[in-house]
Amino acid sequence: MADDCIFCKIVAGEMPSEIDQEDEHTIAFMDINPWTRGHALVIPRNHSANLYEIPDEDLAHVAQAAKRLAERMRERLGCDGINLLNSTGQAAWQTVFHFHMHVIPRYEDDPLKLPGSPQQVEQEQLAEVAAELR
Ligand code: 5GP
Ligand code: ZN
Repeated sequence: MADDCIFCKIVAGEMPSEIDQEDEHTIAFMDINPWTRGHALVIPRNHSANLYEIPDEDLAHVAQAAKRLAERMRERLGCDGINLLNSTGQAAWQTVFHFHMHVIPRYEDDPLKLPGSPQQVEQEQLAEVAAELR
């Protein structure tokens, strides 16, 4: 458990939360400021700050739990879609530094909008960045 980590405190039961799913490796609870009805967070019980630090096994457990929760949301909440979101780093909007996957049920009439707009780029720019990544 990391000192002063609110999500570690939720795992330890030292901080209240609305848990909706748990297993040996993960817990899922309702986001305190939901973007849509049912917005939840899946976290590993073990503390890792972000995507760079989380062990592959914990990441796999979180992914499986998120899928299970998404299926439950479709069945119980009747949502029309799901967004999975992880933010790693302040530049990517991360505010709580215990790895978490947002599981956000989407509804045809919900108010969420894409936060950016697709850019038109030249083929060479795509080739250049792909080369940097290979
Ligand atoms: P991030 O911005 O790091 O991707 O997401 C952090 C999320 O945690 C936010 O959506 C925020 O509403 C949620 N959150 C922050 N503090 C608490 C808390 O004490 N309890 C719960 N349930 N959610 C929290
Ligand atoms: Zn933590």
